[in-house]
Amino acid sequence: MQKYEYHKLLDRAVEALPKEIVVKERFQMPQGIIFHEGNTTILKNIGEIADRVNREVGQIFSYLLKELGTAGEIDGDRAIFQGKIPESRMQECIKRYVKRYVLCRECGRPDTKLIKKNRTLLLKCEACGAIHPVAGKIKRE
Ligand SMILES: [Zn+2]
Repeated sequence: MQKYEYHKLLDRAVEALPKEIVVKERFQMPQGIIFHEGNTTILKNIGEIADRVNREVGQIFSYLLKELGTAGEIDGDRAIFQGKIPESRMQECIKRYVKRYVLCRECGRPDTKLIKKNRTLLLKCEACGAIHPVAGKIKRE
């Protein structure tokens, strides 16, 4: 009888835990706000994207330039690319950047840091401690 009551108490204690501890929040992939102006493509929120994933604007920008094979410039919080780049292609590149340079390949969380070791760029996860070379294979693609 006593044992039964003890278990009941334990159940109640678990129910009382705040939900944040039990439910893991899911990372939302940042979406680019993209429009065309003349013969250029403008990514209006590159600054916001950089904030969201905790990376430098310049690093994301140079990745996008390389992926898209074009030239461009940063103007405040927005990036301007030469040429009319389809929106879907730009979103794809942003997604690829986040997968490669931000998300942990073990636990999928964005709490990561880039570190350099022996001239190799590594992605270190603050949440689970995993370390992967950035240039390595991506499991979750
Ligand atoms: Zn991790």
